[in-house]
Amino acid sequence: MKPDKPGSRRKKIILYYVTAIVLPGIILGYMACRGIRNDQALREKESRRKLEINSQAFFTAIDSGFVRFMNEQTTDSMLSASGKGDPSLLALFVRDSSGSKRLITHQLLYLPADLMTVDPGQSRQPANLKEGQRLEFAEHRFPDALRFYQDKALKTADTAMKIQALVASARLYNKMNQPDRAKALYEEIRRDYQGSLLNGEIPLGLIAGLEILKINHATGEKDEMRINSRQYLELLLYPPCEYDKNQFDLFYQSFKEIVRETDTVIDSLFAEIDTQKARTDYLIRILSEQDLIANSSNSRFTDSKNGIISTPVNTAELTAVCLSWDKDNGTHTGMVIDFQAYLISESEKLIRKLDPDSSINVKIEDNNGNLISSRVIAEETGYLSFPFPENFPKWKLLLSENRPGFLATLMKAGSGIYLLAFILIVLFMLLGFVFILYTLNVELRLNKLKSEFISNVSHELKSPLTSIRMMTEMLHHNRVETEERKSAYYSAMLEESEHLSHLIDNILDFSRIDEDRKKYEFIDIDLDKLTRQFLKSIREMIKETGFDIRYSCPDKVPVIKADSNAILQVLYNLVDNAIKFSGKSRQIDINLVSGDNELQLCVKDYGIGISAKDQEKVFERFYRCGEPQRSGIRGSGIGLTIVKRIVEDHKGHLTLESKPGEGSTFCVHLPVNKNSEP
Ligand code: ADP
Repeated sequence: MKPDKPGSRRKKIILYYVTAIVLPGIILGYMACRGIRNDQALREKESRRKLEINSQAFFTAIDSGFVRFMNEQTTDSMLSASGKGDPSLLALFVRDSSGSKRLITHQLLYLPADLMTVDPGQSRQPANLKEGQRLEFAEHRFPDALRFYQDKALKTADTAMKIQALVASARLYNKMNQPDRAKALYEEIRRDYQGSLLNGEIPLGLIAGLEILKINHATGEKDEMRINSRQYLELLLYPPCEYDKNQFDLFYQSFKEIVRETDTVIDSLFAEIDTQKARTDYLIRILSEQDLIANSSNSRFTDSKNGIISTPVNTAELTAVCLSWDKDNGTHTGMVIDFQAYLISESEKLIRKLDPDSSINVKIEDNNGNLISSRVIAEETGYLSFPFPENFPKWKLLLSENRPGFLATLMKAGSGIYLLAFILIVLFMLLGFVFILYTLNVELRLNKLKSEFISNVSHELKSPLTSIRMMTEMLHHNRVETEERKSAYYSAMLEESEHLSHLIDNILDFSRIDEDRKKYEFIDIDLDKLTRQFLKSIREMIKETGFDIRYSCPDKVPVIKADSNAILQVLYNLVDNAIKFSGKSRQIDINLVSGDNELQLCVKDYGIGISAKDQEKVFERFYRCGEPQRSGIRGSGIGLTIVKRIVEDHKGHLTLESKPGEGSTFCVHLPVNKNSEP
C-alpha cells in the first residue's frame, strides 16, 4: 500500500485539477472575454459609423429623389397638361415671368379663384333657351316648356345648351310631379356630364346627385338613397372638375340637410372629406404664400445647382415638403409633396438601393412615434435614431445593424481565435469534469475496498488466534483428557497457525508487491516435484474436510526457472480459493500440462463459479465478489492480486475459465526453455 496519508490523494487531485484545468480555464476565459469585449466595442463603433453613413446617404437620396421627382413631374405635367400627377404630389404650381399663376396638378377639393382654369363668367344663360324659360316661369305652361327643352336638347350641337336643356327638362318633370322621369334624367346627366359645369361654375355631377337624393328622400327610397349618398360623397372627395370653395360648401351643406341617416361607409367618407378639407385650406394658404414658405427659417437647398429649395410643413393638417424652384427664365415652380405618401412609396426602393445585402433594419417614425414605413429583416434591439434634416418634417430614421448569430459572430471575431479559446475552455472543463468524476469514483471504490480489507484481515487474523489461544489454555490447564483429543488439538493448532502464517505471508507480499519491493530467487525447479510436495502438506492440512484433490501430470516435465516459495504461494492461494468457493462439492483437480514453450498448472474446482462481469475484476486488489462476502466466506481480496503479480514477474500469465454454479479453472502459464533468468 502507498504510504499516502488519508485524504492527501484527494488534495493532490484537487491541486492537479486547479492547476491543470481551473487556472488555464480562467486565464483562457479571461483572455477570450477581453478579446470578445474589445472586438464587440470595435464592431459597435464600426456599426455606428456604418449606420451614420447610411442615414446620411438615405437623406441625400431623398433630396435627390425630390429633384428627380420635380423634374419628372414638371416636364410630364407641362407636356401632357393633364393635371393627373403622382399620388404623393399634392400640388404643382407654376408662375411665369409675367406673374400669371397656373396650378398644373393638385389634390385639392376646391380651388382658389385665381388658380381656376375655367372662367365662371363664360356661357351664362344661352339666349336661345329664353322661350322655354318664358313658358316655364312666366306662363307656367310646363308641358309646352318641357317639349321646348326636349326639342332643344335633341337638336342642338352645343354641349352647354344641351346641358341647360336637359337640366331644365328634369326640373320640369319634377314640377309636373313625375319624380321617376326626373330621377332618370338626372341619373343620365350625372353619368354623362359628371365633369362638366353648369353655367361655367356649378358642378353638374353634384347638382344631379343632389337632385336624385332629394327625390330619394321624397319618395322614401332609403337603400337607393344610401347608394346615391356614397356616390355623391365620392364625387365631393375626388372632384372631376374645378369649382370654388363656395360651391363645395353649398353642396356639402345641402347634402347634410337632406341626408340625415348615415352608415359606416358614409361616416368614414365624411371623415375623409373633413380631413381633406382642412388639408385643402392649408394647401391653398401655402400656394398663395409660396415665396414666403420658401424663405422660412427651415428652408434648405435641396439642390443648390438648380436652386431648388425645400421647406418642411409639419402641422396637424399636413406633413409635407414644399419645393420651390426659380428658373433663369423667370418661371417659379412650386411643389407640395405629401411626405408620408412619398416615403411609403419610395423608401423601400431607396433602402434596397442603399443596402442591397440587407444588412440593416430600417424604421421610419413620425414625430408622434408612429411607424410610417419599415424594412426589418430580423427584429433587433439597439436601433440608432437619426432625426431627418431640417428641410424635412421632424421625423426619425431608426437604423440597426442586422447582426449575424452568436456563432457567426464568434467565427468572424479575430480570425477564429476566440472560437478556439471557447472550444479549449469547454474542452478543458469537460475533461476536468470527467477526470474528477473518474478519480473520485476510483478513490471512493478504493476507500471502500480498503476498509473492507482491513475488517476482513482483522477478522481473518482474529479467528485462528482465538481458537489457538483457547486450545493452548485447555492444554495448559490439563483440561484435555485423552491423548487422542490432545493430538487433535495439536493438529488443529498447527493448521490454524499454518493458515495464519499464509495469511501474514500474503499481507507482507502484497505490501512488497504494491511497493515494488518483492524479491525473487530464480532457480531451476521441477514443478511436478514442487506440486507434489505442496499436495502432501495441503492434504495433511485439510484431511478433516473431506476434500479430494486429484493431481495429473505429463511423463516428462521440463525444468523451469522460478522462485519456489513464490510458486508455492501461488498454489496455496489458488487451492485455498478452490476449497473456499467449492460450495457443496468436495472435488478439486490440479493438472500440470506441458505445452509449447510453457507449462500450465491448472487448479479446477466444481464450486460456485464466477460471473463473467466479476471475472474481469477478481484480479484487482481488495476485490471480492458479492456472493462470498454475503455468505461469510473468509478472505481479504488480495490473494489473486498476488498470484497474478507473481506469475507476471515470472514472465507468465494467468487465465480463468468459470461459469456460475459449475466451477472455475485458474491456469498459471509459465514459460520454459529460458536459459537466462526471467
Ligand atoms: P479472497 O481472500 O476473497 O479469496 P482473492 O483475491 O483470492 O481474495 O479472490 C478474490 C475473489 O475472487 C474472491 O473473494 C472470490 O469472490 C473470487 N474467487 C476466487 N477464486 C474463486 C473460485 N475458485 N471460485 C469462485 N470464486 C472465486
